[in-house]
Formats: sequence, C-alpha cells, structure tokens
Amino acid sequence: MTLAAAKLIWAFGCIAWFIIRYPHQRRARKTLVAQRAARLRERVLLTISSCGLGVVPLIYVLTDEPRFANFSFQPVLGFAGTVVFAAALALFYRIHRELGRSWSVTLELRDQHALVTDGLYRHLRHPMYSAFWLWALAQALLLPNWIAGPAGLVGFGTLFFLRVGREEALMIETFGDEYRRYMTRTARILPGIY
Ligand code: SAH
Repeated sequence: MTLAAAKLIWAFGCIAWFIIRYPHQRRARKTLVAQRAARLRERVLLTISSCGLGVVPLIYVLTDEPRFANFSFQPVLGFAGTVVFAAALALFYRIHRELGRSWSVTLELRDQHALVTDGLYRHLRHPMYSAFWLWALAQALLLPNWIAGPAGLVGFGTLFFLRVGREEALMIETFGDEYRRYMTRTARILPGIY
C-alpha cells in the first residue's frame, strides 16, 4: 500500500459513512423532537468533532500540511487502518438500523422515544460511539501525520467525554429505573471493559 492509497481509502471511508447516514438524516429531520439538550453546547461539540474527523485530515490529505508533523508511511499501519475503517462502517450500518427513529445527530429525545435495548444495544449502551472511536482509530492508522492522524481521536474524544454522561442522565430522566437497570447489565462502548 502507498501513502496515496491510504489517503484515498480514508476519503472513501468518509464518503461511505455519509452514504450510510444520509437516509437516516433525512428521516431524522422529519421526526418530531420532544426535548433538546443545550443546543449551543451540542453545536460546539459537533464542530470540534467534525474538525478532528473531517477538516484537519482533509487539509492534510489535500495539501500534506502540516508538513513538520509528517512521518514515513508504514504499509502495515495502512492495512490495519483499512480493516478498522471497514469494521467502523459495518457497525455504523447496523446501528443506524437498530436505533431507527431514536437516532439523532445531537442529543435529543423524540416524540414517543423508544428505548432500544436489543441487538448490539443488548451489550453496549453506546455502540454508535464505539463506531466513531473505530473511525478515529482508523484515521490515526491511515494518515502518517502526528497532527492529522490523531485529530479524530482528540476531536471525537472531546465530544464523547463531554456528552456521554449527559446523554445517560437524559435517558435516566426519561426512562427512570428501566434505564438504570439497563445500565447495570451493559458497558458503554467496549463489552466487559468500559
Ligand atoms: N449513544 C448512542 C446513540 C447515539 S445517537 C450510541 O452511541 O449508540 C444519540 C441519540 O440517541 C440521543 O439523542 C439519545 O436520545 C438516543 N439514545 C441513546 N441511547 C439510546 C437507547 N438505548 N435507545 C434509544 N435511544 C437512545
């Protein structure tokens, strides 16, 4: 694998992610929202995450900047990144189907929000965030640049750690003991670990 191929794989991965998500985003726009968490905060977190997973790596892929942070490309890392990106996309595809109408870009509750505890949600409370972590890891493996590579981990990590506790608090507020019990039998993003 060459560096150019790794950059292309990164770009194809992002496009595939967009295609997987597009029909859900269209439907989400039409689904009524019952409750919305702090909007500005959510927008800021989304912007930080999009910079790390999108803008910074795109600049690197197109221009090789920031050059001082480049290191030599290792094909084995490129292959590993490809496998991890494919796993992230497969997970995205499945989770979008499982979460259905309960999915949203920002933290919000639907009108007649259904709590999903089946499928992958039987083991994990946040499998979609697991998929984003895998995507961020794939980016770090595919792009040999000390800034553009880890930018996804930092950007998505910021969103994750500042959102996940609030998301769970909102679910407890809405579903009460049902969600508390669900929490006791599931992990957040890594089965049996976290
Ligand atoms: N954190 C989840 C969902 C991400 S989408 C995951 O990583 O898979 C974000 C929306 O999903 C939030 O607005 C929240 O209302 C909703 N949500 C989170 N967990 C849910 C669940 N178990 N069932 C239904 N909706 C859920």
